[in-house]
Amino acid sequence: MKYKRILLKLSGESLQGGQKYGLSPETLQSYAEQIKAAAATGVQIGIVIGGGNIFRGLTGAKKGFDRVKGDQMGMLATIINSLALQSALEDNGVRCKVLTSIRMEPIGEYYSKARAIEYLEAGYVVIVGGGTSNPYFTTDSASALRGIEIEADVMLKGTRVDGVYTADPEKDPAATKFDEITFEEVLDRRLKVMDLTAFTLCRENGLRIIVFDMDTAGNLGKVLAGEKIGTLVKL
Ligand code: UDP
Repeated sequence: MKYKRILLKLSGESLQGGQKYGLSPETLQSYAEQIKAAAATGVQIGIVIGGGNIFRGLTGAKKGFDRVKGDQMGMLATIINSLALQSALEDNGVRCKVLTSIRMEPIGEYYSKARAIEYLEAGYVVIVGGGTSNPYFTTDSASALRGIEIEADVMLKGTRVDGVYTADPEKDPAATKFDEITFEEVLDRRLKVMDLTAFTLCRENGLRIIVFDMDTAGNLGKVLAGEKIGTLVKL
């Protein structure tokens, strides 16, 4: 295997599958199967999940919710998603711990780097819920932060799009995909890999990112085996 320890970022939206809102049991099962196969190869897996399938603070603020409370609602949404994935993983026989960035035992143990690494080394999949615990951040920032903290070899950003393109492929049919790109070129070309706070954290700490389509079964295993799918963002 190419990597010893990874941080997998899953968007909340992807968990809704074909639905407009909430959690799709089929998507959870598909992700659980892919993560199970990956864990069986011995790679240590940390996971951060978004909450956009349930609530986003910024969208809430546009409707009149207080931004900070809305962001806190969004962070709670990430915990709901974390528990859903933990449940799907455990149903598939995968040992998994949920750690939370906000204290809320007994739902999950309070996150610390040491605790996360202890569980990863003991063979658990570790999901860190609750974002960064701070408003005005995103779960992309949380995954950058946790990825750096746990000393992951790479951040795998599972999305619905299969990599980084010259333009949005859903809007521009002429857009072409990069196999590899540098952090600098992403900035120069104003491409959107993740929000700038998250992107800068990865860049300044040398955490490589692979953007890939997690919705195609088997893709996680291919990325881990070093197959050139998705786009690698590197220094
Ligand atoms: N959020 C936050 N701080 C964090 C992470 C998340 O306030 O550190 C809130 C924010 O309101 C965000 C919501 O949680 O809109 C859901 O996270 P995100 O939008 O990143 O989820 P995704 O788009 O990946 O589903």
